[in-house]
Amino acid sequence: MGDTLHIDWTSCDGRGLCTELLPQLLARDDWGYPLARHGDRTNVGIGAGDSQAARDAVALCPRLALSLKTAP
Ligand code: SF4
Repeated sequence: MGDTLHIDWTSCDGRGLCTELLPQLLARDDWGYPLARHGDRTNVGIGAGDSQAARDAVALCPRLALSLKTAP
């Protein structure tokens, strides 16, 4: 099981920066909010090849709405 990108919907403002950094994992819904291409909307599974881009998205999210849960 890999890492998980958690989206805090109470903080996200839907500008979509994360969807530009992780286009393979996140699309945008009609309002600009991130929409997981696979899995649920709150916890998005991250493959090993996407770890750095996920860390970048967490660091750059202007609303601090993203966090990474590392698999044990
Ligand atoms: S970068 Fe942050 S605020 Fe912007 S859409 Fe993604 S989660 Fe929401």
